[in-house]
Amino acid sequence: MSTAERLQLSFLHAALEELKSKHLYFHLRVLEGEQKPVCVIDGKEVVNLSSNNYLGLTTHPKLRRAALEAIRRYGVGAGAVRTIAGTMRPHMELEEQIARFKHTEACVVFQSGFTANAGTVAAILGKEDLIISDELNHASIIDGCRLSRATIKVFQHKDVPDCVRICEETRAWPGRKLLITDGVFSMDGDIAPLPQLCDLAEKYNCIMMVDDAHASGVLGKGGRGTVDHLGCHGRVDIQVGTLSKAIGAMGGYVCGSRDLIEFLYHRARPFLFSTSHPPSVTATCQAAFTLLDSPEGEKLLRKLWNNTRFFKRGLKKLGFPASRSETPITPIHVGDAGKAFEFSRKLFEEGLYAPAVGFPTVPEGKARLRAMVTATHKRKELERALEILGRVGKSLEIV
Ligand code: PMP
Repeated sequence: MSTAERLQLSFLHAALEELKSKHLYFHLRVLEGEQKPVCVIDGKEVVNLSSNNYLGLTTHPKLRRAALEAIRRYGVGAGAVRTIAGTMRPHMELEEQIARFKHTEACVVFQSGFTANAGTVAAILGKEDLIISDELNHASIIDGCRLSRATIKVFQHKDVPDCVRICEETRAWPGRKLLITDGVFSMDGDIAPLPQLCDLAEKYNCIMMVDDAHASGVLGKGGRGTVDHLGCHGRVDIQVGTLSKAIGAMGGYVCGSRDLIEFLYHRARPFLFSTSHPPSVTATCQAAFTLLDSPEGEKLLRKLWNNTRFFKRGLKKLGFPASRSETPITPIHVGDAGKAFEFSRKLFEEGLYAPAVGFPTVPEGKARLRAMVTATHKRKELERALEILGRVGKSLEIV
């Protein structure tokens, strides 16, 4: 590459320097070995409060066995997109299993939760349509909204009256309308006011869509998500979930009517233009859903919630300010990004990994640690985490 060509990208270096000056630059921490509650990251053993592996399924023996068996039987890849030759028997079986699990007519599996959201919103809406969206919805929803070229109106976080205001203002909108929310918000851990939003969707003729990435395998019976948890079965047209967090593997899915799923088979671009999952991934997910519906699954969910309550109580006792979290996602608010990153760095030195998040993942000035509790943390590991948090928090005058 010539110097002249390389100069064209010199703005990247300047942008990275700016990130450094704002304390928003990070390096990727590397996990040695398995995703576990205590693990080795960057060569250091730490208590891990960073993972979305809510139920510890990433390393579950039943899921490993399912993956290995599928590799023996089907090989390691699907070799084509779903619409050509990349639909193998396990893809169809998984979709049927998830639809049964969610009590919906049908389901389509995508390569990730991100592509499930973005691909679905962009497929079902066009530029004459309207999207009414919570301000803290996930980036994949925001990207899907932008890709659809529909008009986007954002209501304040969980603010039903503000959502009513937009619904009233757009009452006579000539095109289709979509009301969309995360079920559990990924950076704050709070739960959407789903019954009230369903009321609005019904009153103002909106399609109702929920992204349950952080509720699947966490909330509701057997981890069926916020729709089940809040008694909204039959009121949500489109339910998105991920296979990458509590389910322990990789992927995303959309549940809804048979027509919705058939339409997405024909129009969702990630489904049409990107190769499907290796069958080992699908088989892993099938084993995960089977486990969720068993006594073992119930036990794991109970442990997840007991650990969550224990950890939140511990933070409160230490004097950390209460957050609005209602789930295992536990933000510890700091505010200034530099201080949040310093807090996280010092915790790491002391043997605790709780990553800091700053802009653009959260709004500017709202930097925080994002601590995640899982079912597989032992009490003594959480006690150790709390002890380190208290000690380092005091030394930095955060608590
Ligand atoms: N929605 C939400 C709310 C999320 O937090 C995430 C993951 N960060 C996604 C969707 C995307 O899921 P996946 O990681 O499976 O792409």
